[in-house]
Parts: sequence; structure tokens; C-alpha cells
Amino acid sequence: MTAADTPRRPLLISMHGRDNVAIVANDGGLPPGTVLPAGPTLRDPVPQGHKVALRDIPADGAVLRYGIPIGYALKDIPAGSWVHERLLKMPTARELEGLPIATIKPEAQAPLEGYTFEGYRNADGSVGTRNILAITTTVQCVAGVLDFAVQRIKTELLPKYPKVDDVIGLEHTYGCGVAIDAEGAEIPIRTLRNISLNPNFGGEVMVVSLGCEKLQPQRLFPPGAIPIELTSDTRGTGSAGPLGVPPLPGGETRSGSGGLDTICLQDEAHIGFMSMIDAIMGTAKAHLERLNARRRVTVPASELVVGVQCGGSDAFSGVTANPAVGYCTDLLVRAGASVMFSEVTEVRDAIDQLTSRATTPEVAQAMIQQMAWYDAYLQRGRVDRSANTTPGNKKGGLSNIVEKAMGSIIKSGTSPISGVLPPGEKLRQKGLTFAATPASDFICGTLQLAAGMNLHVFTTGRGTPYGLAECPVIKVATRTELARRWHDLMDVNAGTIADGDKTIEDVGWELFRLMLDVASGRKKTWAEQWKLHNALVLFNPAPVT
Ligand code: CA
Repeated sequence: MTAADTPRRPLLISMHGRDNVAIVANDGGLPPGTVLPAGPTLRDPVPQGHKVALRDIPADGAVLRYGIPIGYALKDIPAGSWVHERLLKMPTARELEGLPIATIKPEAQAPLEGYTFEGYRNADGSVGTRNILAITTTVQCVAGVLDFAVQRIKTELLPKYPKVDDVIGLEHTYGCGVAIDAEGAEIPIRTLRNISLNPNFGGEVMVVSLGCEKLQPQRLFPPGAIPIELTSDTRGTGSAGPLGVPPLPGGETRSGSGGLDTICLQDEAHIGFMSMIDAIMGTAKAHLERLNARRRVTVPASELVVGVQCGGSDAFSGVTANPAVGYCTDLLVRAGASVMFSEVTEVRDAIDQLTSRATTPEVAQAMIQQMAWYDAYLQRGRVDRSANTTPGNKKGGLSNIVEKAMGSIIKSGTSPISGVLPPGEKLRQKGLTFAATPASDFICGTLQLAAGMNLHVFTTGRGTPYGLAECPVIKVATRTELARRWHDLMDVNAGTIADGDKTIEDVGWELFRLMLDVASGRKKTWAEQWKLHNALVLFNPAPVT
């Protein structure tokens, strides 16, 4: 990468020696007549983040960025022209056959030892970065009642339990009015189950159910779904309000200790609304008492489970923020941590790079299988991966999904890819994993939470105030202009890389150290500061009824 040093002169960034376009880094773009350091004179005004032709590109010629064709010229493009999406024909998606399989054997990186953070060790061995009571719901119908109860828990109970960070309702739009036995329905169900078991919730599972919904509590948590260590201690000794032990639909009765801690609103024991609220609050109290006894202990950095994601991307995403995150991903892998990258439509065009980085042919095949499933899923709606890009992406200089994908996968760094996780499953291994999720910010975040994410890193170029109640989100700005304007929303400014003030390595290390501070609770992210909480959005590829 090259970047001139003074902001008054044209700042161009190219990613690869083969590239015949570069992006304009100057705030406000560049006017026509500007003489570029590479030679040509600008023929058009070129906005910041947009591409300029460094050489004459003939009609049908490849437009090269990141060293690969991101498109083909629809007509002759003279050197010095603004190269925007209307001049480009998008390449077809690479076939999923004949891909290079586990061909790259990267040199083993030296382990990174001695880095620790202060976390909450759970009975199942996982480590939380926050101490949160999360109340699971089986169906959207109960959301209003639970919201009411959560507000009262926050004002009346939470002050008595100062070691507990928050109380949240795990609300969603699933649970009823859905084809619950359809192909694909297992995805939202296991997602919700695994989110309830996220390490930040300390294994304190309690469920609010309506009663008549399709997603019955015992379907959400079949026997054995909750690890035994989490249910065998003092469970069942807390007050369950006026309910006692509610009968389960179908005539089954709940076993007291070790059973599912469920409040069923349609239970006949409830006379009026306040009876439901009392029951939820009484049950919550028992869980708050146990959570309040949790203490942070020093644990190795290998206990981090990090999900990386981008949203509201621009042409700088692949130049500044995502490369810095990629560098940090490599640091985390060297420290023995778990890192997930996701967003199927944003890796689809780089599938050959990923299959070649797989540690084994099985990992590469699992990746191809996820891509094929998603291709078919998109085809059902008669679209393809190009449906991903937004008007904001294009305004930010990203011409199409190929260019966006090349900038997106850089978040995964250079480490070998040692695992593939289907959507909604729980991650059980260290190292770098491709967690297959849609690129939709909230759906990706929701699925990474289900995987067991205890820290989230999110890069943005256009700017998004994204945040999650369940887990801290560190937001990384791709440009200094955004970091300045959103000074109280962005946690890290990777725009310093394009400004020439810092290197990718500098920002990668800055992010790594910030992650340990945030994981330890020593620092709050801006999203935590302002309590910016996006909704959980379950990925449901199955029909609704
Ligand atoms: Ca995203």
C-alpha cells in the first residue's frame, strides 16, 4: 500500500502491484485536472474512496483491484477517469468445483504468550466477559410482559446485586406461526438455545413461555441441552413466585431441581398480570443471587471468543479497518483464542482463497458445502450474491460485491482456517473458524452470539451505531473523518492508516490491547456507554405459516 504524506497532495491507495485502479484517499475527493503521482491527470471529479484508472483500460478489459478482476470495462476507460460501478460488468461467481484445497501451508507463527484478561469462569469451562442475567423467551407473544418485568427487575432488584451488569430479555420474532418441522427450522431453534448458553450469562437459564406456542420450552431445551454442571447446584431452591412447579403441557410435570426453570404465562395459577410479573421477578431473584456471587479471575487471552464483522462498508474498509482487524485476528490465533469470521455473501467471491487456506480437505469441503447451500438459498429468491451491496456501499466507492468481498475477507487475517461452523451451532474449537452466517449485521451478530462469542469487533466506513446487549461490541472506523464526526460512537480509528500516521500493525496491536481491557471490564465500549442495543434477529430460512 502507498499513501502520500501531506493531505494537500493527491493521496492514492493501491492494494496490489497488478492493480490498474487506485482509490482516492483525500477528504472531499479530488477535482479534474489534478496530476496524480502515478502519472495521469484526472479527467473527472473523483469522490473520496472511489477509483481512478491508472492506465488506459480497453472495453472488456479487466479492472484489477487487490490483484484480481473486480469487473470488466463496459467501454474504453482512459487513464485518469473515475471508475464507478456503471462502467463495470460484474464477474460471474466462481464455480464451486475444482477449487484449490488446503494448498497453502503457512509457516507456523510463534505463539503469543503471557497475555491475560479478567473474566468470569463458568462451570462448563467457558469464560464470560460480562455478568448478565438473560431471560429466554420461547415466543414473541410474551415480549411485552417480559419488558415490563425487566424494567421492574432493573429498578427494584438490580441495585441489590451490584456485581451483575445487566438484565435482558432474549426477545425475538420466532416461536409460533412458523413451520417448525420444515427444513431449516432447526437453525432458529438451535440459535436461540445456544444464545441462552452464551458464556456472558453464567449458565443461569430461565425461560418465559406463553403456553400454546409451537416452540415449547422442552423443544427449545430437550433433556441434556443444558450442561449438567449448570443445573445441579442450587437450582430449584429459589422462589418461583406463586407458581411453584408448573405442569408442562401434555401432562408432564417438571422435575424440580435440574429441570427447566420456566414461567408459563397461561398457567392457571396466574390470576391477572401482576401474578405473572411476580413469578418472573421471583425466579429472576434466585438467578441474580447466584450471578452476584461470580467474581472475575485472571484467565489467558486464549479464552476470548471473538466474532469479527463489518457493516456499512466503504472502499476504505478493505484498506484500513479490515486489514487492522486481520492483523489482530492473527494475534488472537497466536494467543490461542477462538476467532470467527462470517458473512457468506462477502466471502463467496474469495472462496478459492479460503479453501486454499483450510488446514484439511474436510475443512475446505465444509466451506464449499456452506457456499453451495447459500447459493441455493439465494436462488430460491431468484437473486445472487450481488443482492448484498447497498446504496451506501456504492456511494462509499465499492462498485460491486466482488470488490466488497475482497475487502471483507481481510478481517480473517492470514492464519490457517481450522474450522467451519454451520449457522446457530456452538463453537467448540480454538483458532480461526469460518462461521457461516448471512452478512446482515444483526443476523450475523445473533449467530455469533449463539456460537459463544464473548467479544465482538465491528468495522464500519459509512458509520453504524450497532451494538448488542449481550456482549461488548468494539467499533472500528475506516476513516478519520468518520472517527472525528462520530467521536463518541467509534472506539478505534483505523483511518490513521490511510492518513499515514499509523501502520496496520500499530492499529492491530491497539485493537488487541483494547480487547483485553474491554473483556476485563476495565473499559466500556461506546455502544455500552450509551446502551445501544440492536434486536436479536434469528435466521429462519424455513417458511412461516
Ligand atoms: Ca455485516
